[in-house]
Amino acid sequence: MTNTEVDLSNYEYYFRTSRRDHLMEDGETLCKYNVQNPSEDDVKGLDELTEQTWTLLKNGFADLCNECGGYASSLGLFDHDMGKEDVDFECPECGDVADKIAFERGMVNVWHYREPEPGASVLDGKDICRFNFEPMEEWRRGETKGSLEGHDD
Ligand SMILES: [Zn+2]
Ligand SMILES: [Zn+2]
Repeated sequence: MTNTEVDLSNYEYYFRTSRRDHLMEDGETLCKYNVQNPSEDDVKGLDELTEQTWTLLKNGFADLCNECGGYASSLGLFDHDMGKEDVDFECPECGDVADKIAFERGMVNVWHYREPEPGASVLDGKDICRFNFEPMEEWRRGETKGSLEGHDD
């Protein structure tokens, strides 16, 4: 498979909290769910995304609309099969690094795969921590809450 160079700056990522994210081109979503007038703070060029957001996308953990994800693959922007990368997200609940991240209506579920104690059930090999979106939002955008609240210059 040849890897043609794609200009990521032609596309934008639309961050949404508690709803699926979308990809945009010229102010329109790639999918049919034409979400209108996103606030400027919520839209970032694909070439400006943080490494954290890329990790989510490449692992298939990002809460991205399926249709937009499909277009992204066909355009060669990124692919869920690019290979798993470690997600360097420290769980605010237990402090361990996340093995898997899933979004659910404004909540974040972080999975930790544990080595079960001898004799323990298989279910003990997995912990799921659940918390609200805010720490994830800060992490994936690479911003602290302060800088999300606008600039006073
Ligand atoms: Zn979409
Ligand atoms: Zn945890």
